[in-house]
Amino acid sequence: MHASPSVTFSPDAEPAGCFDAAGLRAGRTVLWTADLPGAAAGRCPISEGDVDAARARMRRFAPLLKELFPELAASDGEIESPLLAAGRLQRALGLSSADGTLFVKADHTLPVAGSIKARGGIHEVLEHAEQLALRHGVLTPADDYRVLAGAPARALFGRHTVTVGSTGNLGLAIGTAAAALGFDVEVHMSADAKAWKKERLRCRGVRVVEHAGDYGEAVVAGRAAAAADRSIHFVDDERSLSLLLGYATAAAGLACQLQQAGRVVDARHPLFVYLPCGVGGAPAGIAYGLARLFGRYVHCLFAEPTASPCFLLRMIAGTSLLPQAGPCTSVYDIGLDNRTEADGLAVPRASELAAAVARPLLAGIYTVTDEQLFRHLHLARVAEGLRIEPSAAAGLAGPRMLLDSPLAGRYLDARSLRPHLERATHVVWATGGLFVPEDEYRRFAARGEAAESADTQPR
Ligand SMILES: *Cc1c(COP(=O)(O)O)cnc(C)c1O
Repeated sequence: MHASPSVTFSPDAEPAGCFDAAGLRAGRTVLWTADLPGAAAGRCPISEGDVDAARARMRRFAPLLKELFPELAASDGEIESPLLAAGRLQRALGLSSADGTLFVKADHTLPVAGSIKARGGIHEVLEHAEQLALRHGVLTPADDYRVLAGAPARALFGRHTVTVGSTGNLGLAIGTAAAALGFDVEVHMSADAKAWKKERLRCRGVRVVEHAGDYGEAVVAGRAAAAADRSIHFVDDERSLSLLLGYATAAAGLACQLQQAGRVVDARHPLFVYLPCGVGGAPAGIAYGLARLFGRYVHCLFAEPTASPCFLLRMIAGTSLLPQAGPCTSVYDIGLDNRTEADGLAVPRASELAAAVARPLLAGIYTVTDEQLFRHLHLARVAEGLRIEPSAAAGLAGPRMLLDSPLAGRYLDARSLRPHLERATHVVWATGGLFVPEDEYRRFAARGEAAESADTQPR
C-alpha cells in the first residue's frame, strides 16, 4: 500500500488561512472551525438526565428486542457495534504514528437497521411504544417488557400508525422496529431514495410513499399527515429529542471500548471524533454524549458532502463569513444542488434542535466530495475489509483535514494540542452499510478503486 496522503485537500483552497466561502458555494472541500465566526449558541434543549433515561429505556427493552430480533441473541438484546483498531487504514490514509492512532467505530455493522439510525430511530419507536402501552394499561412499570410481544399489546400497536420522512436509513430503522412491534407503518421517501431500501421495507409490510421532491418534502408530507390524526406518531428527524437522545447513548459504549483498548483521554491524550452529518441529529447527539463524558478533551468534527453542507451553512449563515445568507438557509439558497451519492447525508436544511445542541460543543465541520467518499470506501475495504456505504466514508477524510488545513492548525495551536498529537486517538464513525446489496456495493467499490488509481498517476 502506498503511503501518499489520499485526501485531496489542497491548502491553497483556503485563501490565506481564511474560511473559503467562495469554495463552499462552488462545491469545493472546505473546513470551518468553532474559532471562526459562527451562529450564536442558544440554550441547550437537553439535560444530562435525559441521556441516562434513554440508556435505561434501551436496557428495559433489551429482553423484548432479543425476542423480536434473533440477530440480537448474542448481545442479549443490546444494539452496539465494535470499536476497531485500524492501523492499515491509518497508513493508507497517509497518517503516521506521530499523528496519533486511528480507530473506526463500526456502526456500519449495527444490527436490525444496518446504520447509525439503529440508535436514534429504534429508541424513538421504543419510547413511543412504552408511553402508549403504559397509557392503555397493557404495561406497568414493574413488568417484564416481553409482555409487549403479547396479543393485547400487539392489538393496541396495530391500531396506531408510526410514520417518518426519510432519505432511506431512518425509514429502514423506524420501519423495521415499528413493524416488529406490530405498528401500522408508513414511510415517506424522496424519489431518489435507493430502490433496495424501499423494497426491504415493503417486504416487512411497511407502506412506502414516494415523493417527487427531496427529503425535505417527504418530511413535510409525513408531518402534515400526523398533525391531523392522534393515532399517528410522526418521527420528526428535524425536531425529535427522542432520536437525538438515542444517538447520545452511544457515548457511554464508546468510552467503555476506548478504555478496553487502553486509550486514555485527558489533557495530554486528546480524542478526535469524525462524524458524518445529515440533519445533524446523530452527530449532535453523539457529540453531546461525548462532551458529557470527556469535556474539553474531546474534539468532534462533523463531515458533510460538498453538495449538502447544511449544518455548516446553519453555523455560518448571517455571520461575517457568509453575510449575504440569512439564518435557516437551505443549501439550495447558496446555489448548491444537494445531489450526492451519500444518501444518508443528502439533506438541504439542518435540524434546529441539533444545531442548538451541537453549537457549543462542536470543534469544526468539513466537506468532502463524492470522489473522496468513494476512494475512502475503497481504502476501507482493501486496508481493513470494511464494507461501508458512501455516507459512512465521510469521516475518513477528517484526520488529514485536521492535520493539513491551516485553519485546523490554528484550532490545534490555540489549544496547544500539537505536542500531544502522537498520543491522540482519532475515532472515525462509520455510519452505515450492512444491508447494501452486493451488486450495489461492488459498483461503489469499483468507482472508488478507479478514483484511487487515477489519483496516484503521476501529475
Ligand atoms: C442519517 C445518517 C447519518 C447522519 O445522521 P443525521 O442525524 O441525519 O445527521 C450519517 N450516516 C448515515 C449512513 C446515515 O444514514
